[in-house]
Amino acid sequence: MAQAFGFQVAATDGRARTGVISTPRGDIRTPAFMPVGTAATVKAMLPGSVRATGADILLGNTYHLMLRPTAERIARLGGLHTFMDWQRPILTDSGGFQVMSLAGLRKLTEEGVTFKSHIDGSRHVLTPERSMEIQRLLGSDIVMCFDECPALPATDAEVAKSMALSMRWAQRSRDAFGDRPGHALFGIMQGGVTRDLRAESAEALRAIGFDGYAVGGLAVGEGQEAMFGVLDYAPGMLPDEKPRYLMGVGKPDDIVGAVERGIDMMDCVLPSRSGRTGQAWTRRGQINIRNARHQDDPRPLDESCTCPACTNYSRAYLHHVNRAQEIIASMLLTWHNLHYYQELMQGLRDAIAAGRLAQFVADFHALRAEGDIEPIA
Ligand SMILES: [Zn+2]
Repeated sequence: MAQAFGFQVAATDGRARTGVISTPRGDIRTPAFMPVGTAATVKAMLPGSVRATGADILLGNTYHLMLRPTAERIARLGGLHTFMDWQRPILTDSGGFQVMSLAGLRKLTEEGVTFKSHIDGSRHVLTPERSMEIQRLLGSDIVMCFDECPALPATDAEVAKSMALSMRWAQRSRDAFGDRPGHALFGIMQGGVTRDLRAESAEALRAIGFDGYAVGGLAVGEGQEAMFGVLDYAPGMLPDEKPRYLMGVGKPDDIVGAVERGIDMMDCVLPSRSGRTGQAWTRRGQINIRNARHQDDPRPLDESCTCPACTNYSRAYLHHVNRAQEIIASMLLTWHNLHYYQELMQGLRDAIAAGRLAQFVADFHALRAEGDIEPIA
């Protein structure tokens, strides 16, 4: 018998929570950071290496996978877990956000969105029903409702209209998802930075009923202050007993601030994407390994880090392979960045469990404020 999808909060500290999401494909420790496997791969990483960094769950992108290699092909080949060799939980987005950000010639109606592929110009239609079908074909463990996120800047009236459409699509997503034991469907709260609209959206989602709830429509260029402004109240509008997911976030300090405000799950391309452009994230902030100051430096990126890039290689080596555009540069920095993110999540989970989150957050900011170690003389 398939194990049910569930969520247990083990401890709270202020508004922050730590716990476990249980799924038939394994547990997800929360707060959780989900690496992004856009096209059925976390770029530059083998799945086993992603797991070794401490990731319990990956995110896959419906928009990319429906266009190439197509959801039907992945289904014929045994589903996304088998196709990409990741047997642990996978969350898929609905495709809505990336249609808005990547596709050409979009046409939005009550029914859904018609668009042209950014790959070959072919015409496609995404509706709540089609999004549920694609995510079922992929075999996703956590399915996201199909929603619309208005482009910013938008007026209150535009945000309200878009939110109302997303709530009608949420009901259609719920109806189309049906009853699938062991799989979860998450609703997505919209409403921009307007408290009344957020409350209205939360009310509509709660009335439909979901296995988890995302705070959508943030991390789209509004800035950290505005995002935290919404997170000061939005998670509290959602059911305490269900996981809360902040989509597309973010930088390490965004993550810490979101966890402090009651968020349980996050995803972002940042650690993997920045690893391919020579950017490393450490306890001391951001480092550009391409900088000439590293070319003779025999020290590791971070002496306290246990990842392969820090255990086996010098800053000078990482600088060299990056400058030489060697593939291992992307591999090592991506591994390090994902390792750092997962270590940060473990630190947050431990701190919440021990009731010392405030101290953990103070230490986090203090070390970042010191900045990177001094260059060698
Ligand atoms: Zn490292």
